Amino acid sequence: MTKFSDLKLDPKVLKAIDDAGYESPTPIQEGAIPSALEGRDVLGIAQTGTGKTASFTLPMITLLAKGRARARMPRSLVLCPTRELAAQVAENFDTYTKYHKLTKALLIGGVSFKEQDRLIDKGVDVLIATPGRLLDHFERGKLLLTGVQVMVVDEADRMLDMGFIPDIERIFSLTPFTRQTLFFSATMAPEIERITNTFLSNPARVEVARQATASENIEQVVMMFKGSRKDREASEKRKALRMLIDSEGDKCTNAIIFCNRKMDVDIVAKSLKKYGYDAAPIHGDLDQSQRTKTLDGFREGDLRFLVASDVAARGLDVPSVSHVFNFDVPSHAEDYVHRIGRTGRAGRDGKAVMICVGRDEKNFDAIEKLIQKQITRIDNPLKKDAAPAQADDASPTDAATPENTSDKPKRTRTRSRSRKSAEPKVDAEAAVQEVAAVENTPQPAPQKQERKDNSRSRSNRGRGGHDNKVVGMGDHLPGFIAMSFEERRAG
Ligand code: AMP
Repeated sequence: MTKFSDLKLDPKVLKAIDDAGYESPTPIQEGAIPSALEGRDVLGIAQTGTGKTASFTLPMITLLAKGRARARMPRSLVLCPTRELAAQVAENFDTYTKYHKLTKALLIGGVSFKEQDRLIDKGVDVLIATPGRLLDHFERGKLLLTGVQVMVVDEADRMLDMGFIPDIERIFSLTPFTRQTLFFSATMAPEIERITNTFLSNPARVEVARQATASENIEQVVMMFKGSRKDREASEKRKALRMLIDSEGDKCTNAIIFCNRKMDVDIVAKSLKKYGYDAAPIHGDLDQSQRTKTLDGFREGDLRFLVASDVAARGLDVPSVSHVFNFDVPSHAEDYVHRIGRTGRAGRDGKAVMICVGRDEKNFDAIEKLIQKQITRIDNPLKKDAAPAQADDASPTDAATPENTSDKPKRTRTRSRSRKSAEPKVDAEAAVQEVAAVENTPQPAPQKQERKDNSRSRSNRGRGGHDNKVVGMGDHLPGFIAMSFEERRAG
């Protein structure tokens, strides 16, 4: 078996690796490090969790150990698609450069330019950046890329998804032709292939086993889900999620809950919080300091549920996530592999639970095709919930929820909802109103409650246009509808 000491790395790097407790190089490290140290371009086809960050940072440090940085001219550049990933790469550099005097700067959005400018002015050995922020600095005339000897593109397929490829091409063209390029992507889409053909020179191609085939220690289940009514599907799906979480019991120590859209990340996090779950959202539109705080909390075990978008969670290294919940089926099958790869890391067992609604079935089929395995179907817990004697009914978090999905007729449900509304943790009606407001999908209005915010009452407004229906609304007629009705009659 290859040892790190066989890899011709700088002795100080070897010492830092030893301190980190690594015993032997991972396959991507074993494949990429020797070529990188020879000065060759490397095309690494590997995804997060394979040790790919060290596969480029370790040789870079070894190469940069000789020489010094010049003002505004970084000697190396690492491009990452997201701020979190960039921050993670920076942490890796800190770990492996502990016996070196190399300087680094992290250029990511959401952080003030001032401090970043100060570091660049002094001169840095390693610049770790997201493409947009790097180009901002460049355009402000604060940065020269002509001194870049080694350039890394990390998670290129994600860059493609995020529309960063034109930026990457521009950055390539701003760096010297003679630079060494280390390029990493989990997949080789045609556009990625084109970029590598254009900008890499005779690269050493290192491909490691897809995680899809290596995730045997992750139990994968799916619940096929259909709402009782179309307009209730969203809220019932959130209830189903809560029940799925509850059914895992203490085994679910912490989890990442993935949603496809940022808006749903917010809604799901808010809804979970309302129901007493320790959850917080993370996605690209949130303030950087908040994202960092949320992530740190999750890593340190202070936060149990991280509700995330693919982009925000991409590449996150949280070693002990017991569960991944896919609130939505990802639209790219490969994202499923990335998502569930957050659990079952480093040989631990993990569980991935997914909810699949009718319109996602095509994407679901694509996932099963990719992983070449049938995902175990589990029952819809809400169906059990409808039967009175089921244990789920007694769940403290789910009792008396406004998102109850029993199949009883509407009137009965409305009454039982108000009867049960003494749920201790959550003001149920307020929760559904609040979530509906964020979600912007009209929920059925409580029948005995006049809406304070008439602007939200689109359906009532519509009905108000027909005199016969307005009359039928009796005491519950919102004020503004009555006004227009009176006016029309007077006219
Ligand atoms: P990455 O794929 O770069 O996100 O790395 C995933 C995790 O593997 C990180 O927590 C690294 O610290 C860890 N790691 C990287 N290389 C090794 C190694 N050779 N042995 C053990 N753990 C490693």
